[in-house]
Amino acid sequence: MPRPSPDLVPERPELSDAVWLDVLSAVDRTYADLVDYQERLESQNAELEAMRRFLGSILASTSDVLIVTNRQGLVEEMSASLATLTGRPLASLQGGPVTGLFVQEHVPALDAAIQTVARERRPVMIEAALATGSGPSELELSLAPRFDERGRVAGLVLTGRPVGELRRTYAALERSHAELMAAQAQLVRNEKLASLGRLLAGVAHELNNPISFVYANAHALERYSGKFQTYFDRVQAGATREELVRLREELKLDREVKNLRDAVQGAREGAERVRDIVEDLRRLSADGSGESASFDLMETAKIAASWVLRGARSPVQVRFEGADSVMAFGRRGHIQQVIMNLVQNAVDALDGRPDGLVRVTAKDEGERVSLSVHDNGPGVPQDAEGAIFDPFFTTKAVGKGTGLGLSISHKIVEEHGGELRLLPAGPGGGATFRFDLPKGTAS
Ligand code: ADP
Repeated sequence: MPRPSPDLVPERPELSDAVWLDVLSAVDRTYADLVDYQERLESQNAELEAMRRFLGSILASTSDVLIVTNRQGLVEEMSASLATLTGRPLASLQGGPVTGLFVQEHVPALDAAIQTVARERRPVMIEAALATGSGPSELELSLAPRFDERGRVAGLVLTGRPVGELRRTYAALERSHAELMAAQAQLVRNEKLASLGRLLAGVAHELNNPISFVYANAHALERYSGKFQTYFDRVQAGATREELVRLREELKLDREVKNLRDAVQGAREGAERVRDIVEDLRRLSADGSGESASFDLMETAKIAASWVLRGARSPVQVRFEGADSVMAFGRRGHIQQVIMNLVQNAVDALDGRPDGLVRVTAKDEGERVSLSVHDNGPGVPQDAEGAIFDPFFTTKAVGKGTGLGLSISHKIVEEHGGELRLLPAGPGGGATFRFDLPKGTAS
């Protein structure tokens, strides 16, 4: 169909208006889209810029060396510390092979590490020296794979810390470790002093009895000797027989002769008790560092318990059960200390209960011997069971417990080839600690 000439097209003003409106609104929409797009672009740019600044600040301030490479091992990013270490501007390092930063002789090892990271997709640690203006600078280097969004290895991240700095850190660590050991040794000494204090309280209390006994008897002896002196003076002065008989009755000399013997006997017993106490103490200190030998575990337990009880604030009943005599092999003084610790803990747990009872049982177990200390106190709470053998674990008031008694005792028993354990609570409750030792021979 032939096209009508423009002159022949009838004029339709309403149609051209509508077209114009459509065009204008399309332009409006496009413009709005453009503005929106521009805004989004700007905000994304701002985010990118913030991210870049953030990364830049990390790269600028990290004291460790940080290098990011692409898959070909060419440097993409690095920390400012690398420029400081190598003495070369960052721009001159960018884009070059990462291996070029290190001394020649370490390159094969570095290459091998890079291959391993790419192949096994896991970090690898090596030591390598950076080539710097002032000679090689040893780094403890970690190489880690960097992945792209599809999980493929996109390059590497190398982080390195100067070995010198690491050595300084290790030295500082070693120093604080030594300080801690010294503090621990001091605390062990404190615990020893605390046990010594408890022992001395017992010694003082125990010596007090026989000494006052000796003292009272000596006083009585003095009184008797005065009476005999009077009598002998009268004999010397030539008194008549009747007078002497009367004086003898008056001074009750017959009774006093018997009293005199009792007083001498009492003083001797007191002195012997003092001698025994001193002997116990001497043995405790001598056996503490002495050689291992056979000894009677039950006898040692009795001595240990008596020392604790002498220092106890309120009386506690202690019952010895099992065999009368059980021979063990070890350092008697050390084992006495262990038993003293266990009995002391039992006495502390009973805390003056009127029905408090400590049962100490020694048993011959065939190849070995054992001793258990049981108390009918509150027992060890379940949540503390795992911690009681830890050094410094204590539930006692400040100044009362150091928390070292059980850990030292555990170690002493271990040194004897035995084991100190808290037994599971029985139906009667309370706490039972038990340890075993090699069997000794009767002398
Ligand atoms: P310390 O007696 O100085 O606290 P120990 O190492 O001897 O140190 O004991 C550690 C903790 O174990 C005590 O504080 C206490 O909580 C607990 N314990 C030890 N023996 C008993 C016991 N017979 N009954 C209850 N708890 C105990």
